Amino acid sequence: MTGEKDSKTRFNGEKIKEARELRRMDITELSYRTGISRQSISNYENGGYTPKPDNMSLLSDVLKVKWSFFTQPSKSTDEPIYFRSLSAATKIARVSAMRTLDMMEEIVGAIQNFTDLPKLNIPEFDIKNPELLTHDQIEECAMACRKLWELGLEPIEDLIAEMESAGILVYTSEIDSDSLDAFSRWGNDGKPYVHLCSNKHCAVRTRFDAAHELGHILLHKNVKKSDLRYQKYFKDFEEQANYFASVFLMPEKTFLNDITRVTLSHLLRLKPKWRVSVGAMIKRCAHLELIDSEGEKYLWISRRKKWGKTEPLDNDLETIPQEEPLWIKEAIKIMIEEQYGTASEILSYLHYDNDLIAQFLNLDILRANVERGDTSDLIRRNIRESIKGGAHSNIIKFKVA
Ligand SMILES: [Zn+2]
Repeated sequence: MTGEKDSKTRFNGEKIKEARELRRMDITELSYRTGISRQSISNYENGGYTPKPDNMSLLSDVLKVKWSFFTQPSKSTDEPIYFRSLSAATKIARVSAMRTLDMMEEIVGAIQNFTDLPKLNIPEFDIKNPELLTHDQIEECAMACRKLWELGLEPIEDLIAEMESAGILVYTSEIDSDSLDAFSRWGNDGKPYVHLCSNKHCAVRTRFDAAHELGHILLHKNVKKSDLRYQKYFKDFEEQANYFASVFLMPEKTFLNDITRVTLSHLLRLKPKWRVSVGAMIKRCAHLELIDSEGEKYLWISRRKKWGKTEPLDNDLETIPQEEPLWIKEAIKIMIEEQYGTASEILSYLHYDNDLIAQFLNLDILRANVERGDTSDLIRRNIRESIKGGAHSNIIKFKVA
């Protein structure tokens, strides 16, 4: 648990850098916004100097972290993060994304002081050389996961809810999604985290993204961070995750039954049922050899001519509702509503600024309650004990096997 009050109170300069990365600031900007010289900030970061209280306040205000943040151990992980692109253009966004994952782990740790998370329920595969995975093996993995989650072979109604019920921590935030798609990582707490972009109001895209990240979680657990530096491996793993998403969302048996003709208009009619894009269906039809490469090419060209970049129904959230991760938000809401803890208490476990967390989670209830609670330590302990003791530990019901 990273949020627990730490006995260590030594200043750790690397934490300034971590906070800068989260907030996407270079030293020059931090210097400009705090009025502290670049040299001094460098000295703090390199561990030679500890800021005086005035400067600590400035740094903490501008970086939106509590003082206690600067005395925490540095975060690092050997687990690779699966981004869609490793281009230089997205490097700052990627580093910031990594820091949001750190923050998310801390939030999840804080929630666990009050209630239990759904147990991790995913199939485990012994994949020693993921780069050698064949399409058939990927399909086997996808079907094993459907079986474990008792999904049958029909279209999945709410994929994100299924992932959350299986103990996968899914979240969204408004970070720079133009340069960055969804991404995922195994956390230091041994749990899989999936970030989805919240400002892509296209339900089929969110779903495919979620299934793609699920593919990384299931197929690539043995991949090392260093493996991803090889462009070839990186591309292979991306292709595998896409293939996983495709077969997981459109199992051969049932999907084939629906494909009476491979035309744009027929695929479009199937879109609300399968909740995948026509583009994804074209690819699946090609995998299933319902069309040859010429036929596939023809469909892609016609699709572009007819619809441009946005397919019909992409933004029609009434026909295809947007799926949203709910577990973390709901857990916090319920804890506050049922008075298991006030927002202040929950937030007191975190080393980030309360407002930053409220904004990050887009949770007004945190803002509204922040000022209110001033429960004594004794009551706080009682709440925690009663919840941990099991009296309320099942408040949030999920279908966990
Ligand atoms: Zn990927």
